[in-house]
Order: sequence, then C-alpha cells, then structure tokens
Amino acid sequence: MTEANEPIVKYKRVLLKISGEALMGDQGYGLHPPTVERIAREVKSVRDLGVEICMVIGGGNIFRGLAGSAQGMERTTADYMGMLATVMNALAMQGALESMGVFTRVISAIPMDQVCEPYIRRRAVRHLEKKRVCIFAAGTGNPYFTTDTAATLRANEMSCEAIFKGTKVDGVYDMDPKKHAHAKRYDTVSYDEVLQKNLGVMDASAIALARDNNLPIIVFSLDEPGGFRGILAGQGTYTRVQG
Ligand code: UDP
Repeated sequence: MTEANEPIVKYKRVLLKISGEALMGDQGYGLHPPTVERIAREVKSVRDLGVEICMVIGGGNIFRGLAGSAQGMERTTADYMGMLATVMNALAMQGALESMGVFTRVISAIPMDQVCEPYIRRRAVRHLEKKRVCIFAAGTGNPYFTTDTAATLRANEMSCEAIFKGTKVDGVYDMDPKKHAHAKRYDTVSYDEVLQKNLGVMDASAIALARDNNLPIIVFSLDEPGGFRGILAGQGTYTRVQG
C-alpha cells in the first residue's frame, strides 16, 4: 500500500483484548497456529501504521478458573491455573509476531523471570515508545478477576486511548445475534446501559473501571480480514461503549 492511500488512524496507543478462544480456531480447545498467525498479521498491520499496541489475551481456550472450581477444585488454585494459561497464549502470540519481524515483550503480572518480563509500569511504557508490542499476561495477577478487567487496568496504566475488544460479532447487540435474527446492533452504548442490561461486553468490574476512567471500549469482529486496521481508521461496523 502506498503512503497516499494509507488509512488515517487517529490513535497513538491502544490495547487489543481478545479471548483465549479466539486462538483456538474451530478446534474447541487449545491453540490453532494458523489462527494465531492470522491474528498476529492483523496486529502487525496496525503496528506498521505506527500505532503503539498493548495486548491482553484470555486463557479460556485452555483453562477457566470457574470451570475448575465447578469440578471441585479450590477457586484460587483454579484461577492461578487460568492465569498460567494466559501466559501460554501470550507466548504463542509472541512467537507468531516475532516470526513476522515484530518486536514484542511478554509482561507477566506474576513474575516468572525465565519465561518473560515481570510487570513494571515504566518499563512497559518504554517498550511501547520503542514500538514493541507489549503482551500483558497472567491477568491482574489476582484470583477472582478476569482478563477483561486486566485489559482495562493495563489500558488505564499505559494511557491507552481505547480498548479494542475483538470478538466473533461486529459489535454489541441488544440480544444474541446468532440466536435472534432481529437483534439490533448499537453504534454507541453507554457504560451504564451495558451494566443495567447486562449486555455481556465485558464483566461488570471491567466496565466499571473503564467508566470511572472514561476509557472507550470498541467492540468489533476479528473474523474480518483487515478488520483491526479498518476499525482503527473508523471503517467497518463496530460498537463504541462510552460515557
Ligand atoms: N484469571 C484470574 N485473574 C485475572 C485474570 C484471569 O484469576 O486477573 C483466571 C480466571 O480463572 C479466568 C482465567 O484466568 O477464568 C482465564 O481468563 P479469562 O476467563 O478472562 O479468559 P477469556 O475468557 O478471555 O479467554
């Protein structure tokens, strides 16, 4: 693409949140390398525009604390297992990005020095300034939270202008569009409406943290090729959750 028709992107620094399930393709479990690579390419195309990128990837394709505790496991232990699952996903994404020549750092809320960097805010900011993609792993480092809350926390700490939540659908609907043909997509929706109507964008603590810090959440489909780059340029369909 020549400079003349480069999309105009008004964002300088953003956070991309994806669920662990986004990496499993149609397998139903674990990591699907071609899918990881496809998403890495989306990230690279945005990085190539000069946008500074933070990423938070969930762990639901490998392990969820709630599922473990439902099977009789102690909840906190199960949650730590979930957090470790996010580190595996982060390493997979790092591998895919680096194989494309994108410099990255995996930064974990739980120190594991042989594997990745510990979370030090100022250091992470410096990585972003040097255009390294920062993949924040191990959630918040605390049980009873989710990676949605981790995404909102890190986006605030890194002074991101918005969270981009890549999902299987192209925005927030008033009911499940896969079950109801007449479901209506919101162009914009307030944090309070998301909470009151339980619209399922992110969990309540993540939405509240975004609301209290006026951090917009843009929900878009990651299934569209070029979708992330297009959405950053304001193209395509998406929902903006804002105040
Ligand atoms: N988790 C946690 N604290 C955090 C983030 C995650 O305990 O700050 C655990 C929790 O058990 C969760 C699992 O990690 O179920 C995987 O994260 P999440 O469910 O958010 O992944 P996603 O649904 O986005 O794939």
